[in-house]
Amino acid sequence: MNLSCLLCYQASPTPVCHWCEDDIFFFDATLHGSNLLQYGPVAGHVKHNQYDTLSVLGLHTWPMSSLVHQLKFTHSLTAGKVLSNWFVHKKRQCTLSVPNVLLPVPISAWRLATRHYNQATLLCESISNELGIPVNQSWAKRKGFSVQHHLSKIARAENAHRVFSLSDWCIDSEITAAQCKLNGSGFTVAIVDDVLTTGVTVNTLSKRLKQRYPKIQIQVWAAAFTPPPKSSLLQKT
Ligand SMILES: [Zn+2]
Repeated sequence: MNLSCLLCYQASPTPVCHWCEDDIFFFDATLHGSNLLQYGPVAGHVKHNQYDTLSVLGLHTWPMSSLVHQLKFTHSLTAGKVLSNWFVHKKRQCTLSVPNVLLPVPISAWRLATRHYNQATLLCESISNELGIPVNQSWAKRKGFSVQHHLSKIARAENAHRVFSLSDWCIDSEITAAQCKLNGSGFTVAIVDDVLTTGVTVNTLSKRLKQRYPKIQIQVWAAAFTPPPKSSLLQKT
């Protein structure tokens, strides 16, 4: 095959060559556990009192950050497929239980108008193809013009509280189709995002879901985690 690596542009039979793949920090169930909410260097830095489990593919450091950037800003479907493929195959060995539905973190209408796609939805669509789980793109809404990553941790929490809301029907039809009770008993969702930094967004969305469906199980899946500057995780990369 005549392909070049998305990261180093050298000839490679796969979209990311094995040298680049070797340079990426992947979370590993045997070292970090299958639920990162029980792993201090991650759990200690993300807000997580409203969801049940956390699975992240790797650290948002080079070269993973370059792949996420391609997904987010250049509409690289290949980057999205590589990330979701790794997510499914590297995480599957570590007892990732399969949820009933995938829920992409919404982006605001103005951002959708300028970017033309939601990177979390792209990830969900490829994971959906691999695992055969439906994606619900209209479960929640984000309003406003604000961009979370410029804000402090406290400002993010206040902002997230204001901007996210569930849609009228949310996941009612998926719950009904699964023959579960509308309180969510026996039903599991995975909220999917590209990058996890403070956890405030997914925690706020989880809170909204639990207010409406108190018995629901919530997993959070992310492609990459941004470690704080002095994280012990950075010494291992
Ligand atoms: Zn490469």
